[in-house]
Amino acid sequence: MSRIKKVAVYSRKSRPDETDEMLQRQLSMLIEMCVKNDWTFEVFSEVGSSQDINRPELNKMLAKVQTYEYDAIVITDQDRLSRNTGGFGQIKEILTNYGVQVVTTSKVYDYSTQEDDMMSDMMSVVAKQEYLNIKKRLVRGKRQSAKDGNWVGGKTPVGYNYDHKSKKLQLNEYAPIIQRIFALYLSGKTSTDIERIFELEGVLTPSGSSWNKARISVVLANPVYKGTVIFGKTKVSKTSKKPSGAPRQFKTEATEQIVIENAHEPIVSIEDWETARDIRESRLTKAPSSRIGKVNFTGLIRCALCNRTHSFQRRKGKELRITSCQTRIYADDGTYTVCANKGVKLELFEKVFYASFSQYVDKLEQYLEDVKANMKMDDSNPADEKAILTSAIKKIDQQIKKVQQGFLAEVYTEEEAQKEIKQLKAHRQQSETQLERLDTVSKDDQIDKLQNTLNRLKEILTGTTKMETKEVNHLLTSLIDHIEYKRIGDHKAGIEIKIHYKG
Ligand SMILES: [Zn+2]
Repeated sequence: MSRIKKVAVYSRKSRPDETDEMLQRQLSMLIEMCVKNDWTFEVFSEVGSSQDINRPELNKMLAKVQTYEYDAIVITDQDRLSRNTGGFGQIKEILTNYGVQVVTTSKVYDYSTQEDDMMSDMMSVVAKQEYLNIKKRLVRGKRQSAKDGNWVGGKTPVGYNYDHKSKKLQLNEYAPIIQRIFALYLSGKTSTDIERIFELEGVLTPSGSSWNKARISVVLANPVYKGTVIFGKTKVSKTSKKPSGAPRQFKTEATEQIVIENAHEPIVSIEDWETARDIRESRLTKAPSSRIGKVNFTGLIRCALCNRTHSFQRRKGKELRITSCQTRIYADDGTYTVCANKGVKLELFEKVFYASFSQYVDKLEQYLEDVKANMKMDDSNPADEKAILTSAIKKIDQQIKKVQQGFLAEVYTEEEAQKEIKQLKAHRQQSETQLERLDTVSKDDQIDKLQNTLNRLKEILTGTTKMETKEVNHLLTSLIDHIEYKRIGDHKAGIEIKIHYKG
């Protein structure tokens, strides 16, 4: 059980024979429990007869759970959350994903230790529970900092530097480029025009990349350039998924966001920024997905119907295709039918695949950033802890020797000695496990390795990879077990895929 500090107390009538007095009594019992354990608490109580469908207090509480507000939920018993299993499943999934335990008067439930998610073993630089705690701490810290008007938006936007002392953004030498992007756009140029102009002039981003259309659009849409800081604009749904398996992203309600105007010196005026936004909205068309590079999925695509691995073909002068599944399904009389799964242009498959895979890469990036940020925040000295543990292990070894000597000197019976040694060895094992975890050198190595993988994945996603097809295939194969692929119907039929990650 991880440490509980802040909880939500939830109460509602779940049986028809319950009276208001009984509910009051239950509530005060739960509050007493919080006080006794020194937990900070917030009460959510449904009044009147509450059915599963309309429970505003529960929804309010769950919304706050998703901002990492609580460590646990305190209830009299699990069925207060939902009487129908479907509803409970969804609540459980939210609690699992945000590392929130459920404390009842008789038991503590920690769902997150029971379930796994798509995180592959590549990501397990820190244990999952530990990671959830890190995440909680960082998000809470960030929210508070955002409320103070500080820059907590993650990556520093081009044109600004982050000043560690004031925790605010400050203009840098790239600010004029941002100004120019807006000026060109307001003069009627499109982002494609601006891309061409910058290419001719040799204007580059701070990292030396070219200013492509996508980067320019990101600049134009970022309110940071009019001096505004917005925290918590979107959240990734932990329960709702797209058909491809990727989590849906939601815009948060305005009330959930923290918006600070005039947080730092603007690069463009509010009027200019808003005019640019209006132009953008009027021009809004679907951007063609141009970032797909040539990637070899050899050995990764499996038929969702019969599990056979699909192969590829290229007819003369034509594009690369995934072949249809040709598995023969024999009947007893020797006749057969062919598996109904169809082939598709590889290009089409790639579009669907990368849309889903980019979510995984985003998650990997977020994870890595969190772990890094936590390492920076962590002021404990691993060297000290290491020394303490090492000496503890030495002491245990000495104690074991003493018991062995005691047995030889007939101070202990054989049974007593064995029991004692068993206990000491268990202690030793514990200390060794802790020591392994403290091995920060290997942790750094792991992080470097993960960063390297992440960089290569991002290059694949942006179509800037210099890797050969074989290497791309190797990299994908190290992360993905297989991709379940389904396409049934006529030539217009869509594709369904599900990526099964390793780990
Ligand atoms: Zn098949």
